Amino acid sequence: MTFRRTRCPHCKGKLEQGQRIHPSCIDGYAEAEAAKAERKKAKELRAQQRVERAQDRKRREELKRIPDLVREAQAAFNRWIRKRDEKEPCISCGAPPPDLSGLHAGRDAGHYRSTGAASHLRFHEDNCHAQCVKCNQWGAGRAVEYRIGLLAKVGAVRVESLESNNIPHRWTREELIAIRALYVSKLKTLKEKQ
Ligand SMILES: [Zn+2]
Ligand SMILES: [Zn+2]
Repeated sequence: MTFRRTRCPHCKGKLEQGQRIHPSCIDGYAEAEAAKAERKKAKELRAQQRVERAQDRKRREELKRIPDLVREAQAAFNRWIRKRDEKEPCISCGAPPPDLSGLHAGRDAGHYRSTGAASHLRFHEDNCHAQCVKCNQWGAGRAVEYRIGLLAKVGAVRVESLESNNIPHRWTREELIAIRALYVSKLKTLKEKQ
C-alpha cells in the first residue's frame, strides 16, 4: 500500500506530485514539531508532579498523630461554627456580630463545655457557638452567661442533654479525618448558599 500525501503537513497547502512537504515549510514544520514535543514533555512533567504531590499529601496525612488530627478537625469545625453563627450575637454577652457593630474585631467558636473537660463534646454542634474573643477568654468562657444564651438559643432539653452527657469518647484517626472533611464540606455549602 502506498501512501501519497497530497497536503503539506505544515501549511496544509496542496503539494506537487512527489513532494512530501513544501521545501519552504521544512524549517517551520521542524520548529512546530519541536515545540509540540516540548509542550508534551511539560505536560507529562506537570502530571508527574501532581502524582508526587498527592503521594506527599498521603504520606504527610499518614504521619499525622491523633493530636494533629484533633487540631485540624477542630479548626474545620470551629470555622463552620463561626460561619453558621456569623449573624448571631455573642452567645454569652449578646454583643452583635462584627459586621453589624464593627466594634468586635474577631469572634471565636466558644465551647459551652470545654474541649479540655469534655472532649467527647468538642464536635457537638449544640456545644459550640460564636462568642466574642473577649468573652471566650474570660474565665471559663463566661459559663453562667453562656448557659443563659444557650437556653434561649437551643432550649432547656438540649442544654440538659449536653450537661448530662458524660460518656467519654476516644476519637479515632478515621473519625477525625471524617469530621474534618465533613465540616470543610459543610462550610463550603454554607458559603455557596450566600
Ligand atoms: Zn507547506
Ligand atoms: Zn461576648
